[in-house]
Amino acid sequence: MALDSLHSLFLDELKDIYHAEKQLVRALPKMAKAASSPELQRAFSHHLKETQGQVQRLERVFKDLGQTPRAKKCVGMAGLVEEGEKIMEEEGEPAVIDAALIAAAQRVEHYEIAAYGCLRTYAQLLGLTVAEQLLQQNLSEEEAADQKLTALGEGGINQAAVAVAEDEEE
Ligand code: FE
Ligand code: ZN
Ligand code: FE
Repeated sequence: MALDSLHSLFLDELKDIYHAEKQLVRALPKMAKAASSPELQRAFSHHLKETQGQVQRLERVFKDLGQTPRAKKCVGMAGLVEEGEKIMEEEGEPAVIDAALIAAAQRVEHYEIAAYGCLRTYAQLLGLTVAEQLLQQNLSEEEAADQKLTALGEGGINQAAVAVAEDEEE
């Protein structure tokens, strides 16, 4: 599809984030399983449920535009998910692996925040009020998920990873 109008760019990016979210529906259960901290496990499981809801919201956006939901491979998210999978293959200290999972997950959230920020703005410019509201809801959930991960890191998981290094130096 040619990028010959803001509307065609909007549709193209919608298909991209739709594919990205679907990849995350598959990746988040693995991340929950790989996490050791019960709080981090819960955060991933909670965000899985949110992500399933986000996929449904995107399907409503397609429907509102009179389009059948269609995914277009999101290479960026595929790369981020692959990085997450590399972490899960590593042997190591559970606290350090948890810190690495937070870092990987925050990269994902920031990617999504960038995508939804643009999509929401395009919807606004195009006068697509329903789409704009739905995309804003997804954006707000991603921002909250990112903040939750920051809080978990600062609230103890990164501290636990620091303690691991200190033990090894003794
Ligand atoms: Fe998402
Ligand atoms: Zn993408
Ligand atoms: Fe997310």
